[in-house]
Amino acid sequence: MKGISVISRRKFIELGALAATLPFLGQGGLVAPASAAVDKVPVNDPAAAALKYVEVASDASRADKMGVAGSEQICGNCRFYKDSETPEWGGCALFQNRLVAKQGWCMGWVPTA
Ligand code: SF4
Repeated sequence: MKGISVISRRKFIELGALAATLPFLGQGGLVAPASAAVDKVPVNDPAAAALKYVEVASDASRADKMGVAGSEQICGNCRFYKDSETPEWGGCALFQNRLVAKQGWCMGWVPTA
């Protein structure tokens, strides 16, 4: 467990550095208020592209990270994902609570606690 928390801390530091470079995060911070727009994040959105967001996780090329196989990393089991009224879509804190695909993935993936 200690190893996971150390890796997660490192991941958050990396995400913080990345967030500083993304203009969309500069105004509202990492977590947008619940009243934020609920539109879907387009995969060609500059911020989504920077995080290599895909709507189908298996479309992403990536190595195993944090002890979780790449094939098991989806938005639906990411710490930043929050279920919505639409079963296959949920809000993502990294994208100002806009909707991402439950089966999607991006470089910001962090396992749920
Ligand atoms: S941060 Fe998590 S929930 Fe948000 S797009 Fe990336 S993998 Fe999906």
